[in-house]
Amino acid sequence: MTHRPEVSPYRVPVRDLIRRPGAQHQVIETFPTPVVLGTDVIGVPEGKDIELDLSLESLSEGIWVSGTVHALAVGECGRCLDEVRLDVDASVQGLFTTSPMAQDGDDEEPEDVFEFDGETLDLEDVVRDAVVTSLPFTPLCRPDCPGLCDQCGARLEDDPDHTHEVIDPRWSALQSLTEEKES
Ligand SMILES: [Zn+2]
Ligand SMILES: [Zn+2]
Repeated sequence: MTHRPEVSPYRVPVRDLIRRPGAQHQVIETFPTPVVLGTDVIGVPEGKDIELDLSLESLSEGIWVSGTVHALAVGECGRCLDEVRLDVDASVQGLFTTSPMAQDGDDEEPEDVFEFDGETLDLEDVVRDAVVTSLPFTPLCRPDCPGLCDQCGARLEDDPDHTHEVIDPRWSALQSLTEEKES
């Protein structure tokens, strides 16, 4: 497990909002994220700034969080493996409630509903969901990245016209035999 700071910067005290429907609270903050926000191929790295511009609104059911998150995601091009940097500008929406609908059985968990203890919101999950949803499944350095040669791994962008002599597999077997003899 990764070690996290005692107090996550994603935690926001909301005692002043509880049971005061209509009350609002802005969260406009930039801090280095203590956790990676993203997928295996692209994400906001740990320690990189994340900018939150959120409004928290007290409703009778809980606290409605909405706004935007801005950050820079870094990943790998799915074709040529070059670094990809992507501006993330994602919209955040979620309802925090102290009593998520007690659903019996295997009903699917409602989306965008998060539980909190009645005093502090932990915005990490709602922010992560927003960032991950805005990221591409296959990041590309540019939409028409030609990728790598499947024969030799060369970057086709650097050498778009290169070709390989196509060797009949039977000949290549012979060739490696003679090479072995020679060595
Ligand atoms: Zn690429
Ligand atoms: Zn090649």
